[in-house]
Amino acid sequence: MRKLTDIVDFTEITPDAAIAADRHGGRAKCLQRLVRIDLPVPRTVALSFEAVHRIALGQMPDAEALLAVFGAAPLVSVRPSSADPDWGGPASILNIGMNDARHAALCKTHGAAAANALYLRFIQAYAIHVARLDPDLFESEDYSAEAVAAALAAYAEETEEPFPQDPVRQLLEVLRSMARAWEGTTARLLRQAKGAPAEAGLGLVVQQMALGLGPEESGSGVIQFVDGVTGQRRITGRYLGQSQGRDAVSRQKQALFLTRDPRGPALEDRCPELFARLKRYGDTCRINLCEEMQIEFTIEAGRLWVLDAVRVQRSARSAVRIAVMLADEGIIAREEALARIEPRAVSELLHSQVDPTGRRQVIAQGIAASPGAAVGRLVFGSAAAQASAARGEPCILVRRETTPEDIRGMHVAAGVMTERGGMTSHAAVIARGLGVPCVVGVSDMRLNRRDGVLITADGRKLHEGDIVTLDGTNGQALLGEAKMLPPALDDAFHALMGWAEAACDIGIRANADTPADAETARRFGADGIGLCRTEHMFFEHDRLTVMHEMIFAAGPEDRGTVLERLLPMQRGDFIRLFEIMQGLPVCIRLFDPPLHEFLPQSREGIRELAEALGLPVSDVTRRIQALSEFNPMLGMRGVRLGIAVPEIYDMQARAIFEATIEASRKGWPIVPEIMIPLVSAMREVELVKTRIDSLAAAVRTERGADFAYRLGVMVETPRAALRAGDIAQHAAFLSFGTNDLTQMTYGLSRDDAGRFMGSYVKQGVFAEDPFHVLDTEGVGELLSIGADRGRLARPEIVLSICGEHGGNADSIAFCREAGFDYVSCSPFRVPVARLAAAQLALGASLRPKHGRY
Ligand code: PEP
Ligand code: MG
Repeated sequence: MRKLTDIVDFTEITPDAAIAADRHGGRAKCLQRLVRIDLPVPRTVALSFEAVHRIALGQMPDAEALLAVFGAAPLVSVRPSSADPDWGGPASILNIGMNDARHAALCKTHGAAAANALYLRFIQAYAIHVARLDPDLFESEDYSAEAVAAALAAYAEETEEPFPQDPVRQLLEVLRSMARAWEGTTARLLRQAKGAPAEAGLGLVVQQMALGLGPEESGSGVIQFVDGVTGQRRITGRYLGQSQGRDAVSRQKQALFLTRDPRGPALEDRCPELFARLKRYGDTCRINLCEEMQIEFTIEAGRLWVLDAVRVQRSARSAVRIAVMLADEGIIAREEALARIEPRAVSELLHSQVDPTGRRQVIAQGIAASPGAAVGRLVFGSAAAQASAARGEPCILVRRETTPEDIRGMHVAAGVMTERGGMTSHAAVIARGLGVPCVVGVSDMRLNRRDGVLITADGRKLHEGDIVTLDGTNGQALLGEAKMLPPALDDAFHALMGWAEAACDIGIRANADTPADAETARRFGADGIGLCRTEHMFFEHDRLTVMHEMIFAAGPEDRGTVLERLLPMQRGDFIRLFEIMQGLPVCIRLFDPPLHEFLPQSREGIRELAEALGLPVSDVTRRIQALSEFNPMLGMRGVRLGIAVPEIYDMQARAIFEATIEASRKGWPIVPEIMIPLVSAMREVELVKTRIDSLAAAVRTERGADFAYRLGVMVETPRAALRAGDIAQHAAFLSFGTNDLTQMTYGLSRDDAGRFMGSYVKQGVFAEDPFHVLDTEGVGELLSIGADRGRLARPEIVLSICGEHGGNADSIAFCREAGFDYVSCSPFRVPVARLAAAQLALGASLRPKHGRY
């Protein structure tokens, strides 16, 4: 253990000095890298975390010796250097060493205006940040000699002592105040909120001032060589130069362009040689630091200094482009490029987004259920959404919650917002499938359809036709039309995805119900379809009515007639899916319609159904009442419907087999996967399997064609997970439906949880919404038990998950660890899942190296 007295007070940053990011902070380490690549960094000294901690305890360094590094008349800055720049730190203090004598000397060499400005700024910073005086007393834009005198007088009056003139004392006080500020409770809480450990250290760097003042070209600025929003190569930044007054006193600071510009003078024209050197520094940083850096520089009487460099701040799209460019230029490995991108950020590329640089007026906050953003006019019903689409006006559909009757509206809406619901509610699942931005569970807004008004939490009344922006990425609605960024499915995105696919060691399939979904899945490189929810194939208007007729059929005969109409529709659907997927696996789930989602609720819906069935409205209403369940999600769903009304599954199995024969003729070897939903007992599987096997035999005989298929079980009740050993005897695969499994494990309604989930997460009852991030402790244990028991009974069994968790990085990590074969998620989440899985496969050795700059 080192004794405190052995600790070095400070270290000059030279190429060989012992500077480490975890002892001196990111800024100190980065400055050393700049020194090593020969950039003209002014002389700099680093104080370690330990040294700064001792300062906070009152054990001061030898400031005289420290200042001696900077010569006889030091003028220095002190800046914070924490391990991660995002953790913040105390404000930098510049121009330490300014005093009356230095001011007088500078008046002669650089003119009174510049000297006054320097001295005044130092007095202000010292008074506010070090002496902790009231900022109002020192705020002044007047840089006259009188203003300097007034500031000195105000300081003396407030502290009852003159402004310190000794640079050593000034430096000691600056160091002390910065060290103490870092250790204060507020600063500690702020940085812990940004992920800093409780005991995160602060380093400090003391640097020779390069003033940016002088007789020749002088000024200061920052420059970067890529656009932080788009990632395109483009020089941006700012430069504050001096206008060329005839005498020193009249020199004024003036904002100039960096690059040649018709609107005014530019550094590039005034100092082409210096400008070219800055560009070279950018290249040197990129090549040696393996990063796009923003360089802070000054020009002091024609001499260029680099004060600091930080990683260019960047949007998700810019991050992808930069990482791919660096890999293409051979500066970083492809694996490193993959490791640098946050999987969640990829979904920002797939959709339009609200421009982060624009103004946003938030009027509603809910659960971010489907990413992307859209601008449109408010509509409060499906019919209004369709009318709006017919007029060519994008609309945002707002509903209390959605049902299949809203599907037509959801298809044409630019965005969907609901008062109720959580991550796996009807609106959320459908919107994610469609790639439409969606916010659910906006419990503090009230939709009053009768009066055609939406009342927000702050009492604002919005009407149909009002323009709003829906931000499904952040779960917000914004007033008016926000500034937007278009999707960025560009060459950089595709390159990154190609590299991810090569690295990935777990399958990524898509939940796709329609040809459009399947095409999206293919476009994003899915390995197949992991879940086709066949009931969703009946959401289209003409089909919904047939679906209703089937549900409402009075007996087997009536139902048989409806099923005959459904058969060719389903066969056609499956042929299309098989064709689009070109031999990739397609897993078709037999009907699992929670009946409440399919019962018409509106008067208009009931009337349409009455027309279709040729029955009076009163009869239909009575039938709806008879079919209503107290708890429909635990009612006549899934395999229970399949066993109670077996003709439905018979029709679907026939449609799958006939489609298999047809599509296989086109050349792709198709082995369909058929999945039984909501199983809780082995006998359910036996009953369904027996019928399906005999149907397969019948179709083979009728058509004179052979085919293979695989029958599997969806594990989404706790009992199915516990009895997976029995069930696996009749199943080629088990796919865990984690939406229902979460619902049933917690006893938490997936449609209603949104109402209190925010408050539960805020109060730490749940670390995360379990419908969003897999609960690895509880639901995860059921997954592990199910997987182990299933594998024990049938070692070759294929294991997967197909709930919404399939697209979440932490859940994928769990599935990889548990040895699952694939995950399946909404098509638009496939790229996110792919990147997350690739990063997991590449392992911890490839933790991104950035973040230090
Ligand atoms: C599930 O329950 O996880 C699932 C995928 O099925 P659904 O969301 O259709 O109930
Ligand atoms: Mg389910």
